[in-house]
Amino acid sequence: MKRPAVFMDRDGTINEQMGYINHLSRFVILPGVPEAIRLLNENNFLAIIVSNQSGVARDYFPIELVDDVHASLKASLKEKRAMIDGIFFCPHYPRGVLPEYCYECDCRKPKTGLILQACEAFDIDMSNSYMVGDRYTDMELAHRSNLKGIMVKTGYGQGDIKYILPNKSLKPVNIAKDLLDAVRWILGREN
Ligand SMILES: [Mg+2]
Ligand SMILES: [Zn+2]
Repeated sequence: MKRPAVFMDRDGTINEQMGYINHLSRFVILPGVPEAIRLLNENNFLAIIVSNQSGVARDYFPIELVDDVHASLKASLKEKRAMIDGIFFCPHYPRGVLPEYCYECDCRKPKTGLILQACEAFDIDMSNSYMVGDRYTDMELAHRSNLKGIMVKTGYGQGDIKYILPNKSLKPVNIAKDLLDAVRWILGREN
């Protein structure tokens, strides 16, 4: 049975934008996020994170840290009875440092590889799915993947909305205060 998904960017959407999350101490979950994820769980939406983590290719932090951060996120959400269904991230960057991660991959957003990986792992009803993120590039990803894009004002959101979005032809279907606001809007629209 196909299920719709809400794809979510990570840094600036799920957790506070602090530049590279090169230590667990810099991973701070934004207010309302556990409730937002729980609402998705309760309303038959897959909750899926898609994230660029080029700090791996740049050798700023080991790939194991990314897994540690995600384990910590899942544990914190579990305490609030919320669950992420899948996390897909791109560790690559063409001009990085570690040769194994330094190439033009097909998964660095706004390329669509992470969404395609999610589609392999889950039976997703893409026509009723959304992409939520704080960067204009997340809206580009939404467009390329035929997802409805929603921009949040957390993270880089306010800046990208003010200085980048006006010059672009691609527009989000909604601009939300934060992830919880975005999810409430989605659920209001679907019902
Ligand atoms: Mg972001
Ligand atoms: Zn990649």
